[in-house]
Amino acid sequence: MIHVENLIDGQFVNVEENFDDISPIDFSVIATIPRTKNVDAAVTAAKNAFGGWSSLTLHQRCDWLDKIADELENQIEEVARLEALDTGKPMEVALNVDASRSVNNFRFFADFGRTLESQEFKMDDATNYVVRKPVGVVGLISPWNLPLYLLSWKIAPALLMGNTIIAKPSEITPLTAHFLGKLCVKIGLPDGVLNIVHGYGPEVGQAIVEHSEIKAISFTGGTSTGKIVAATAAPMFKKLSLELGGKNASIVLDDADLEIAVSGVLRSSFLNSGQICLCGSRVLVHSSIYEEFMEKYLRELKEFNIGPVISEQHRSKVLSYIELAKEEGGRILAGGRVPDKAGAWIEPTVITGLSHTSRTATEEIFGPVVTVHKFDTDDEAIEMANCTQYGLAGSVWSKHRGREVAEKIESGMVWVNTWLHRDLRVPFGGVKDSGVGREGGMWSIGFFSEAVNICVMED
Ligand code: NAD
Repeated sequence: MIHVENLIDGQFVNVEENFDDISPIDFSVIATIPRTKNVDAAVTAAKNAFGGWSSLTLHQRCDWLDKIADELENQIEEVARLEALDTGKPMEVALNVDASRSVNNFRFFADFGRTLESQEFKMDDATNYVVRKPVGVVGLISPWNLPLYLLSWKIAPALLMGNTIIAKPSEITPLTAHFLGKLCVKIGLPDGVLNIVHGYGPEVGQAIVEHSEIKAISFTGGTSTGKIVAATAAPMFKKLSLELGGKNASIVLDDADLEIAVSGVLRSSFLNSGQICLCGSRVLVHSSIYEEFMEKYLRELKEFNIGPVISEQHRSKVLSYIELAKEEGGRILAGGRVPDKAGAWIEPTVITGLSHTSRTATEEIFGPVVTVHKFDTDDEAIEMANCTQYGLAGSVWSKHRGREVAEKIESGMVWVNTWLHRDLRVPFGGVKDSGVGREGGMWSIGFFSEAVNICVMED
């Protein structure tokens, strides 16, 4: 049994009340989690640490990010083991996606920081210097689907730019954030630079967003929570980055390489049990290749290894959508059932026969459930892809027209003939109800700093 504790000012501390961390694999209790409601002590620690941390040079902070990356890399198997335990995902996914990409996040921002150049704008009679200052104490709130991967994606650039941190991982998956805290203490990261508080979102998460001394909130989670976060933070003029939900389309055009398309679309449908915000949960296939595509897709699906979904509660939500699909006239082509074993298992499910505007095909399910739809023209596919409130990601599978179609998709990221291929320098984020702002490369640098101008008149 692991006892998760808050990391405040370099010390691990608990609160009076704790609650259980439940394994999605078999519903056993794997850890206890502090039910924190107040973040004052963490904010005081972060404020006290700010002067020292922000006055290090950028290169010194890059060295710290490398030290964290080194330590995480040394412990990569343990990071993956904890992530697999907490989320139920297969070990190979925990290792190759979660743990490796968490190391890469620190490594990338360390390297990126070393390439940052100061900006100057010369006038005839003066020079403008752009100075990037840290924002201050920042609040980082993350979800359960890629726990350390998404939290480290925020922690690394926030540290790089000289901010001090109050981080709150999801209450469903706290283990790897707790482990990261231990590693940071072990390598001597100065006390109070990284504080990690655990507990329920509406309690400790809300306390972070409401705290007047926390100057920026970087939030990744559901669109409905994002609305609450925005409504709370906006009147305080906090900097706000919101990475929210999605309902992404995978579009297979008539000139697609079918082998590549089938395995790519399948992976985007079911990797991490469909619980990645970038997963393609709507598969749109040109009618001329529909039969062949589906035959291959369903055949390969039988070999696809997935874990359970994150919790019993979440499984109930996913199952309710399968029932809704049936009510809406959908036909289950594969899956749809609950295997006879303990844990939040559910078969990967493929549904056809639904209108692309049905609730099942437009609302975020965030599980191993995809709907499949036929189209006859590129314009029809584009119209179908764009018909939801969301605009996070998507993919297009085509030998000749991929980029042309991709540019007409209303979303922040579109892959052509690939999926989840990530260059950390590029903008990451959604349009429409999928979010506000961008992360990645210079976009993260911009969010976690205040660019100010010093205009110096020449003699
Ligand atoms: P969620 O919105 O329930 O929770 C996200 C985080 O917010 C958790 O840490 C939670 O404790 C906290 N929280 C909840 N209420 C809060 C409040 N009032 N104030 C502050 N914090 C609060 O989301 P989830 O169920 O953990 O994650 C799944 C969702 O995340 C899906 O919608 C998915 O699409 C989205 N997601 C988006 C991205 C992206 O990059 N756009 C990435 C991953 C997941």
